[in-house]
Amino acid sequence: MAYTFSLETGQQVYLDNNGTQTTIAIVTSGPGQQQQSSSSFSTGRWTAQPTVFRTGNGCTVQIESETGQHFIQIQGNSASVTSSRPSANSAETIQVQQTSSSIPGQQPMQPMQPMQPMQPMQPMQPMQPMQPMKPMKMGDMEMSMNPMQMRMGNMQMNMGTPMGSGQQQGGRNFCPKCGSPVQPSDSFCSNCGYQLN
Ligand SMILES: [Zn+2]
Repeated sequence: MAYTFSLETGQQVYLDNNGTQTTIAIVTSGPGQQQQSSSSFSTGRWTAQPTVFRTGNGCTVQIESETGQHFIQIQGNSASVTSSRPSANSAETIQVQQTSSSIPGQQPMQPMQPMQPMQPMQPMQPMQPMQPMKPMKMGDMEMSMNPMQMRMGNMQMNMGTPMGSGQQQGGRNFCPKCGSPVQPSDSFCSNCGYQLN
């Protein structure tokens, strides 16, 4: 726990006990600027809250620790150990307040990094248009889409041409039973003998 008190000169003094070290920071605030000087003294672990006495030219901090009483004199921007105990009668105490904040400069708070704004969602890449199907060939099976034809060995299917009417027109007719190409003039399938007409 750190303690702080202010002096009539406008200085703010911070006292902290880190282990056996007493750290004193004197912060002088001026318009637009802030000066700080800190010093550390080996006093041992505190056993009580420090007491601060106002003296003629500054103040004296009285520290009760496991090693006894220590006095630190603060004058201007410097703090030094002193053996002179201020007389309880003449010295006025300065109110010391607990502060949860550490001595400034000792453990400087890292300023919070501002959150990075969320990256806007990348627009979806438009789907690549489907490649038109290439004629597919597997072994002796062959398939093509336009017109849809499938040929397997000597068997061939044509799905784009309606049966019946197509059989009689053009040169691309197939036996409806086995799929073998037949000529419009053929009466029977030359492959399976199916009667075409
Ligand atoms: Zn046939």
